[in-house]
Amino acid sequence: MTSLPILRGLLHTRSGPLGTELERSPGPSGIGQVPRRLVPEGLMRSACGFCGTGCVLEAHMKDGEAVNIAPRAEGHVNLGRACPKGWEALSVLEAPDRATRPLVRRQGRLRETSWDDAARTFTTEMKAILDKHGPESVAFLSTGQIPMEEMAFLGAFAKFGMGLVHGDGNTRQCMATAVVAHKRSLGFDSPPFTYADFELAKVMVFVGANPCLAHPILWERVLKNPHDPTVVVIDPRRTETAMAATEHLPVAPKGDLALLYLVARRLLELEAVDRDFVAAHTEGFDAFVSFLAELDEQDLLTRTGLPRERIDGLAETIATGERVAFFWTMGVNQSFEGVRVAQAIINICLMTGNIGRPGTGPCSLTGQANAMGSRIFSNTTNLLGGRDFQNPDHRAHVAAELGIPVGRIPAQPSDAYDQILESVLSGRTKALWYIATNPAHSWISQPDFRDVLGRLDLLVVQDMYTTTETAELADIVLPAAGWGEKDGTFINSERRIQRIRKLRKAPGEALADFHIFQLLAEYWGVGDLFREWSSPEAVFDILRRLSGGQPCDFTGIDGYRQLEEAGGIQWPLRPGEKLESHERRLFEDGRFFRPNGRALFEFEAPRKLPEAPCSRYPTTLLTGRGSTSQWHTQTRSSKSEVLRALAPEEAYVEINVTDAKALRVVSGDSVIVRSRRGRVRVKAVVTPAVAPGQVFMPMHYPETNQLTLASFDPYSREPSYKACAVHLESAAGHPREARRPGSRHDRRI
Ligand code: SF4
Repeated sequence: MTSLPILRGLLHTRSGPLGTELERSPGPSGIGQVPRRLVPEGLMRSACGFCGTGCVLEAHMKDGEAVNIAPRAEGHVNLGRACPKGWEALSVLEAPDRATRPLVRRQGRLRETSWDDAARTFTTEMKAILDKHGPESVAFLSTGQIPMEEMAFLGAFAKFGMGLVHGDGNTRQCMATAVVAHKRSLGFDSPPFTYADFELAKVMVFVGANPCLAHPILWERVLKNPHDPTVVVIDPRRTETAMAATEHLPVAPKGDLALLYLVARRLLELEAVDRDFVAAHTEGFDAFVSFLAELDEQDLLTRTGLPRERIDGLAETIATGERVAFFWTMGVNQSFEGVRVAQAIINICLMTGNIGRPGTGPCSLTGQANAMGSRIFSNTTNLLGGRDFQNPDHRAHVAAELGIPVGRIPAQPSDAYDQILESVLSGRTKALWYIATNPAHSWISQPDFRDVLGRLDLLVVQDMYTTTETAELADIVLPAAGWGEKDGTFINSERRIQRIRKLRKAPGEALADFHIFQLLAEYWGVGDLFREWSSPEAVFDILRRLSGGQPCDFTGIDGYRQLEEAGGIQWPLRPGEKLESHERRLFEDGRFFRPNGRALFEFEAPRKLPEAPCSRYPTTLLTGRGSTSQWHTQTRSSKSEVLRALAPEEAYVEINVTDAKALRVVSGDSVIVRSRRGRVRVKAVVTPAVAPGQVFMPMHYPETNQLTLASFDPYSREPSYKACAVHLESAAGHPREARRPGSRHDRRI
């Protein structure tokens, strides 16, 4: 191996001056070159690294280190506000369990080692598996949490360098449904709205979304709306947003598709169709009308659990609304029929002409900070730039842009996440490489998932902390820098590309994921393929080129400097196009991204619940975000004392007052919740916010996914986290069991 000088260069860079970035390399390795200062002392701006809202934060720099952080007062996104996670973004970097040195499992224990040893072990073990079992035997699973440049580097190295076929990300768990719905209906994964629409809409319909808690800064923009909008919430629970809304429709769990079809039918009866728009810009409307006419109204009403008048009332509100916008998040996406629900929302927008105009549109709100960047550049199911692995022209174009042999680009797309896990069970996949995600907490139906991990020959985890449920099971842990310790870009929910900045040094020997990929490429022996990938800014230039000619074309952005000066730029910005407005929406000309320029009405009859309540498991378990201060598996948010203090420490289940009485429990009592997969003991919270026969558990506690059912949308392969059948009983009389350790199995390398 000739990689030791490169390693020394990376470790030197890691401890180099703050506010610096590597010069684009003229040298042989592109690594370890002279750093240049990008931003001096004072204030440094960076988009937040938690959710897809993309709030801009301002760090106060002293002696080259960020000492404090606050929301930026100007700009186009957060208008001077941040939620508690943004305010605490720096403190989560200071945790004592940060991964500071590589770890390799030997004699059953994870032991500290050098980067050289870790990179050699990674390379030797992975190559041995690939040599023995072929290119489909190793897969990577990444995240919407790392910058676009790192994500693209990972996808390019894994597929074009290592020769892997399969790789997916935790964005499968949140946004895959919206992606597929956009692609099928609009021709590209293209949320059309801009955040200004929160302040322009006159009717706002939130479906399976609780922005008061999950997207609080966007909810603040609803509160700033000067048009006194009618706000309707469609959700089984009386969420914080439902309480604040004009109207709450407490639809039965997964009755949303039936409800939206009933609304569409009523809109037809009211003749509230924008016939000119439909005729000029869409396809499939007549078939949609025939489909709706054939549906059994009583069956649809039963599925919604709502009286007809409530649904008719919503249709009338939409029919008379001048500017109607629909917003959706995980209540729609994380469903066994989520794509059809998202398309049902898009269908209503299309038939009423509520798209491409201010204050309108189907608006999918993103979960993770860079989920949108992942959707375009992760190189997993789509080839870089939203292209198609199966299309030879697309492969040739990407190969030419990157200067690599076209034969290095696989001619098949990756399997989806659940299919990769299935292939571990079938014996095809032997090794997984996880980057910045914690699936041993977050993946659906943990008992099944632990079985999958137990069958692997090799599990590599690359993350900021050594104590995540997944890192503790790994064979190799690669210590990574976190948000705030590296440079790059994120794309937020409204397609805005924003800079993220290095505000602090990473601890110990932790490296930016970008540098880890550079290092592994050298040890793998394919460093020459990635000479141009010498810094995040150099990769941004590559990605700009790769976006050319695609709907997401941003070749008109000069580079990082223009992004910083503009405070973020929404794609597209085509070559020669001037940035005339900071609030740009898609489809203003009614031309969509499908080959014929028309949006498509697509639809399908509602399906059965994968696991309906029954006499043994009579209660429906709903899941979702529990508080603004908690983030996903709490890998980061639990590291902040402030954020911990703002949320319950122990797992809990919300139970309706009537059900609690029948169970003889009050708030604070322990209850046992059982599903066909598992059994957990949690605290009861008695509340009228959930309906009788339903309970709610936040996703942030590991107990929740002990219960959930592994079922998936057939089109997006997104897990259906939101409705499975459980049984509840008081824990009185049940002895407390010792918590099962998360051990995988002893392993020697
Ligand atoms: Fe960060 Fe999202 Fe909170 Fe804004 S709303 S500060 S982007 S976590």
